[in-house]
Amino acid sequence: MARKPRPIPTRKKGSFAVVRDTLRFLFPAAWRTYPGYFIVGVLRMLLQAAAPFVGIFMTPLLIDELLGGRNTRHLCMYAAVLVIGTSAISLLTAVLGTVMEKYQEKFSNYFTEQISRRVMELDFQLTEDKQALDQIEAARTGMSFYSGGIHGIASQFFGILSNVISILGVIVLIAVHAPILFPLTAFLLAVTTLIRAKINGIEVEQYEKLSRINRLWNYLGWELTDFRYGKDIRLYGAEDMMAQKWDSFTGQSIAAQREGANRQLPWQLLSITADAARDFGSYLYLGILVITGKLSIGVFSQMLSCGGTFHRSMQNLIAALQETTKRCNYAYEYVKFMRYPPAIEKGTLPVKDCPHTITFRNVSFAYPNTERRVLDGVNITLRPGEHLSVVGLNGAGKTTFVKLLCRLYDPTEGEILLDGTDIRAYDYRQYMSLFAPVFQDFRLFSFSIRENIALDQPCPDEVLLPQADLVGLGDKLRSLPKGADTMISKVFDETGIEPSGGEQQKIAIARALFKDSPVVILDEPTAALDPVAEYDIYRQFSTLVGGKTAVYISHRLSSCRFCDRIAVFSGGTVAEYGTHEELVNRKDGIYAEMFSAQAQYYR
Ligand code: ADP
Repeated sequence: MARKPRPIPTRKKGSFAVVRDTLRFLFPAAWRTYPGYFIVGVLRMLLQAAAPFVGIFMTPLLIDELLGGRNTRHLCMYAAVLVIGTSAISLLTAVLGTVMEKYQEKFSNYFTEQISRRVMELDFQLTEDKQALDQIEAARTGMSFYSGGIHGIASQFFGILSNVISILGVIVLIAVHAPILFPLTAFLLAVTTLIRAKINGIEVEQYEKLSRINRLWNYLGWELTDFRYGKDIRLYGAEDMMAQKWDSFTGQSIAAQREGANRQLPWQLLSITADAARDFGSYLYLGILVITGKLSIGVFSQMLSCGGTFHRSMQNLIAALQETTKRCNYAYEYVKFMRYPPAIEKGTLPVKDCPHTITFRNVSFAYPNTERRVLDGVNITLRPGEHLSVVGLNGAGKTTFVKLLCRLYDPTEGEILLDGTDIRAYDYRQYMSLFAPVFQDFRLFSFSIRENIALDQPCPDEVLLPQADLVGLGDKLRSLPKGADTMISKVFDETGIEPSGGEQQKIAIARALFKDSPVVILDEPTAALDPVAEYDIYRQFSTLVGGKTAVYISHRLSSCRFCDRIAVFSGGTVAEYGTHEELVNRKDGIYAEMFSAQAQYYR
């Protein structure tokens, strides 16, 4: 019955399709953001490809001159070209490398911003979905230190190109003078390639294990140092528990890394042995060619360099290919996250600018990955301008009702209609803009009070203060030296304030009023207040909201007297539905019973 999260479209790990998808996704975005990086990258790649050829061409000339003509002027010229050429290329390559590294930070900021934006735009339902949370973490780490970000991937990609160019160059020379160097080098390359593939496989396995541990670690390391947890941690003496958990995750992380290193070691030793065998074979073969008079000493040295360059470039090429594949696999987590499928259906129908009627028709709902129906066959109609009070005990499904109303989740069964049409057909943003909710667990940002109320909308004091007066916040704002520009918390400003619970609620309510949406929802933002203060807020709010549609949620009945209708939730269904007068006198009614129990506050 519970809606299963849709699978993330994914490709087989390590496949060419992953590399292609990742590069196709990342490179165009990176090119549009910082094209200079790629121009510098191509220049550097060409220099790297040319670098070995200075030695390959100049060394045999030098040796043959030493063994033959011994012309000092020629010797000096060859030596100068060799030294200056090699140094100039090294220097330029290093300078361009530094320029490219400077882009690393810029790319990192750019992609971190993309991830943050996507997290904020993600369907709310996914913020409670373990798979989605893991995917956010995998995208963050996959796009940072695991892949090295764009620079990490592009530098490997340029490595592929430069090595291909070098290899093509030396192949021509080797084919002419010492063709057997090919099979010799190729065989040992195949061996070292297999070994590297094995080592990379072990690393990728480690990464998957560490991704989960890192998420838990981040929670302990960052979230819990958030001062909002400070009171609870201190008062409940949770420090030891936190430290123990931290130690446990540290232990798991170290154990996972140690296990990876131990598994890699034998393969690394084998790789070193294969390299030594290649050197031995090359010297033997070329030595025989010289002894049998088929090569001059100059060309012998050139072939040694070519053999070395061929092997090194092939190895580098394969390493760069494997490294690109590995890094693309990490970065692919980012691609998957950016393409994370929506959790709810979104239509395109525009929301008309008219008084709205919202109808719940046989709505049932179970949270994702659960079977229990939190709402079971709810039928409610919210008419334009109607004030509905939703009451019931804790856990009765009141907040869930509001979450469905605001489309944070879609019903599992039944439908919600806006002016007779299923809300899934409407443009999501336009539909969401109909609501100004204040949730129980609302959060204020560590920005100014003005920004907390108006967000990015212009809101001068002439507009803001009268609104603040309405919620009883005006005097407070006027008394502050920086007025509405006072910052909340000290994160960004030493002089920031920590508003009391009541003041925070007033700011949150002012935000809902400022949004000027046709439907206002108060989901027990007043739960921290005593019943009398809550009663006052609801009474005042009822006037403030005026002709708008309003939904009040409370397990106390303070809001009910000002409402047109009351829905009593019990066990996921609407057990009673009617006006205060209708329900208060109902014999054995839940509302009547709750009201008489709480009546002392409202009479
Ligand atoms: P109320 O607002 O009436 O106190 P809620 O709508 O918050 O009740 O919760 C109704 C039931 O749904 C509770 O049993 C609660 O534990 C469960 N519930 C709430 N949120 C979730 C969630 N994200 N995942 C699973 N169950 C949830």
